[in-house]
Amino acid sequence: MDLRICHLYPDLMCIYGDRGNVITLAQRARWRGIGVETRDLQAGETLDPEWADLYFFGGGQDQGQDVVSKDLRSANGNALRQAFAAGAAALSVCGGYQLLGHEYVPAEGPSIPGLGAMDVTTRAGKVRFVGNLLAAAPLGTLIGFENHSGYTYLGPQARALATVVVGHGNNGEDKTEGAVQGRLVGTYCHGSVLPKNPWLADMLLVWALERRHGGVQLEPLDDSEELAAQRSAAEVARARP
Ligand code: GLN
Repeated sequence: MDLRICHLYPDLMCIYGDRGNVITLAQRARWRGIGVETRDLQAGETLDPEWADLYFFGGGQDQGQDVVSKDLRSANGNALRQAFAAGAAALSVCGGYQLLGHEYVPAEGPSIPGLGAMDVTTRAGKVRFVGNLLAAAPLGTLIGFENHSGYTYLGPQARALATVVVGHGNNGEDKTEGAVQGRLVGTYCHGSVLPKNPWLADMLLVWALERRHGGVQLEPLDDSEELAAQRSAAEVARARP
């Protein structure tokens, strides 16, 4: 069994250590004896919709989002939609999450069109949300760090990834954090999010491996250190909301 990961726009969309999510996915697969190949896709290069099992789309500044949005309005956008329709999984964080949705309307300037693969819409709010983000998800605790001025609202096709306990999450109003639609996941948790939230990493690995290998049962790993880090970060978040 092998896993193919595509890191989308790593030069433009990779702030707050988001690259650590690709490292975590690859390492948790390799610890299980699964071969891993990772490829980057830069703006202007050609995306092969057949290749990747899993896409990672990190966070970025408005300017970078503008460049990426233009690339997603080229053939690459259709190729990415085709890949998702054929069962590829994705983890998107903050700016990447916003661009998998319908649009991101910044505080100044025109709307930045998204891919429309997730039924979410984002518009800049008055207050930038910066700080620890602790949320409760069905499969476990979700802990990370948020820094965004975009407020994201879920449409009927998307469901919340988690419920906010500390912090703001999607919009600071409806207590939702992130979104899940099919095998696509969006979150506002930077950090990087996956090292301290192993349940999320393994959920994505199973979805990605199922694309070419059918039903997958991952061997459990000793996550004692990861969960200790999660508990410690959650304590800090509770102490310093
Ligand atoms: N520019 C977007 C916002 O501020 C995304 C920021 C990010 O990816 N951290 O909401």
